[in-house]
Amino acid sequence: MNLLKRTFVILTFLLIGVAAAQVRIPLDIPDVSGYKVLKCDLHMHTVFSDGEVWPSVRVREAWTEGLDAIAITDHDKYHPHRDDVKVDLWRPYKIALPLAEDTGILLVPGVEITRGNLHFNALFVKDPTVFGELELLPALRKAREQDAFVFWNHPGWRGTAEWWPPIAEAYGEGLFQAIEVVNGTTCYAESYPWVGEKKLGIVADSDIHVPAPLGQPDRERPITLVFARQASVEGIREALFAKRSAAWLGEDVWGPEALVTGLWRASVKPTASEITATAGRRAGLQLRNSSAIPFEMKVLKQPEWMRVRAREVAPQRITGVFVDILKDAPKGTHEVELELEITNLHTAPHKNVTVTLPFTATVK
Ligand SMILES: [Zn+2]
Ligand SMILES: [Zn+2]
Repeated sequence: MNLLKRTFVILTFLLIGVAAAQVRIPLDIPDVSGYKVLKCDLHMHTVFSDGEVWPSVRVREAWTEGLDAIAITDHDKYHPHRDDVKVDLWRPYKIALPLAEDTGILLVPGVEITRGNLHFNALFVKDPTVFGELELLPALRKAREQDAFVFWNHPGWRGTAEWWPPIAEAYGEGLFQAIEVVNGTTCYAESYPWVGEKKLGIVADSDIHVPAPLGQPDRERPITLVFARQASVEGIREALFAKRSAAWLGEDVWGPEALVTGLWRASVKPTASEITATAGRRAGLQLRNSSAIPFEMKVLKQPEWMRVRAREVAPQRITGVFVDILKDAPKGTHEVELELEITNLHTAPHKNVTVTLPFTATVK
């Protein structure tokens, strides 16, 4: 083999080696009530507005971090790189699409309508280039003409969220359908009551401008959990308009009670439906969590003769939970139903869901 040929072979080998090292974190979440739970980030930027990365990089990051779908939503009016990058809001979508198709990442067309402190994302737009010249309300009306799904971004950005007059006007005209209760690492708790009062959907996004993971390895990406009938762009659209979504940031999930309770029910199952123990001794209950979401348990109700040591049910693991059977426990077989508060599953800030965990305990 001549030197050139040998160099070529070595280089090819190295490149294949690098390609093989691409790994994706599996953010498994089982189906909930027949819905696929899609992990989405619906707000991010590229060099086509004020971001620092090329659009296809956003797809690579999403693939690596286990997401199912993203929307690249560059600002419609703010283009600080305009001397170097031609302003064309179709380009981020078109550049990212081939890699998204190759990697199975669903790509939602989008744009961020940015006016002063009030920003809205318009998704599923038919033409992202037409908003920049318009004032806020005309731009939102244009989004509606395009059958877009629109949400109010980072409602408490630069202060505390208030139901400001332009927001009230846009809402009165039905120009937005959801609210970004989590943006970056912030949960805008003060805005959460509007989810119920105004019947708004929930989204949680990174709003990432720099390369992921948000410039700091310990910063987790906020994710919109979309409960979709099918894993497709159309499926996401249908679910968002139907308000079947929740916000996930780190350990915490906020969303409608049926959906967040469904996450627990679909994910956590005892490995055996029965435990056997001797009175006065400790038994073990093993809980399999098949999802990437951890669950923090607090025991609310248990039989008087039993003490369950609540703890975190770790994601994608089997967790052993100690169950102390007290000395005076009645002998025989009992149907036990523990009542648990799951302290990281919220129906509103500081409002947690309760679930039941049934199993059979035989005391000897
Ligand atoms: Zn920006
Ligand atoms: Zn913004």
